[in-house]
Amino acid sequence: MQLYSTKNKKNLVTLKEAVMKGLPDDNGLFMPENISPLPERFFKELPGMSFAETAQAVVTHLIGNDIPQEALNPLVAEAFNFPVPLVQLDDKTTVLELFHGPSLAFKDFGARFMARLMGYFNQSEKERLVILVATSGDTGGAVASGFYKTPGIEVVILYPSGKVSPLQEKQLTTLGHNITALEIDGTFDDCQAIVKKAFLDKSLNQQLRLSSANSINIARLIPQSLYYFEAYKQLQIAGNTLPVSFSVPSGNFGNLTAGILAKRMGLPIKHMIAATNLNDIVPSYLKKGKYEPKPSVRTISNAMDVGNPSNFARLEDMYKKEQCHTCDMMGMDIKGYAFDDEKTKETVKYIFDNFEYVMDPHGAVGYLALKEYQQMYPETTGVILETAHPAKFIEEVEDILNTKISIPERLAKLTNEPKTSIRMSTEYQDFKEWISNHEF
Ligand SMILES: *Cc1c(COP(=O)(O)O)cnc(C)c1O
Repeated sequence: MQLYSTKNKKNLVTLKEAVMKGLPDDNGLFMPENISPLPERFFKELPGMSFAETAQAVVTHLIGNDIPQEALNPLVAEAFNFPVPLVQLDDKTTVLELFHGPSLAFKDFGARFMARLMGYFNQSEKERLVILVATSGDTGGAVASGFYKTPGIEVVILYPSGKVSPLQEKQLTTLGHNITALEIDGTFDDCQAIVKKAFLDKSLNQQLRLSSANSINIARLIPQSLYYFEAYKQLQIAGNTLPVSFSVPSGNFGNLTAGILAKRMGLPIKHMIAATNLNDIVPSYLKKGKYEPKPSVRTISNAMDVGNPSNFARLEDMYKKEQCHTCDMMGMDIKGYAFDDEKTKETVKYIFDNFEYVMDPHGAVGYLALKEYQQMYPETTGVILETAHPAKFIEEVEDILNTKISIPERLAKLTNEPKTSIRMSTEYQDFKEWISNHEF
């Protein structure tokens, strides 16, 4: 597989290079050079395949011979060792639950695959790779559990003290082994500033092999295309005959971009629905044809509070004429809708009252967008991607529903685990001294 930078199509790199580097030097994003449809045979066999088998076939198709099959198959099976159920709400409305992984959000798919890919590509290196991550809460948990016990890789997570939820803190600080949590007496921006400085620090980079687990690493995008096939398969098994559209609660638009990837690989998706909160940059772009990033505003679906979606560059690239001769503009494939918190809360309640289903605020935005879309396209089956378990937003959801909701065992267990973190100031020098002397 070869990948180019969205800023320069001529700069081709291997999958290994793209995964280990994360970002091209020219500030673009890596994209696969060839995204071709899967053979017809694959779609015939799909209903009889497990999720792991589907994942193996799709990943092999996309990345070709970069990893030998005998290494790739167990890697994929291990990364996706949890179920991906499709739950039916009514005739034309289904929910794809992407929260059955260890950190209870869909980011597990990307993080677990990226960790294993990096581990594989790092095998030939003698020295350890040290991954630095600054987190405001959510991504850190998925990355920590994704890389947990990956041979040859150490993870150092920087998080702002007192500014992540108690449960999130437990996800960062209880694993141990190759995961080290630094508790910074500052804000998320302070954490990020330290990480950025570290990557630019020549003497530190001579001493340690540093890398990032960036959310725009191509290794996180690829696995997110897999569950679109799984949803389609489950609908086929259930006897669905209507065209299928996916509603994707979106922030940085990685998930939605991965859906377009699935479509380009031949999955018959009618439309992708971009569902956002008041951070409506993409729906607004689809209406006006102008991309206008702006500062993010806070909402109750806070994982989507993004004012300048990082994957927009990839979307734009995929809809450039030279990339796609047969298709027209982005608006032919993607329909966008935005909703405020009040609507979102009403909808969490509505779904609970009507379907006895507890939906988190992000999924509720997806539901709203699907319903608006289906007024225009009634003869469709909608799949809402439920991106997080409602227990991740327990205060909000319990407040809306006025009832207690249960916390999954694997999360509840964490509250009794002892926290281990290293307290640190916001001074770069303190961080440098610690990491230079730390025995990994
Ligand atoms: C990250 C996240 C999103 C947004 O996903 P993007 O791929 O960035 O669009 C939506 N919901 C939840 C719960 C998330 O954690």
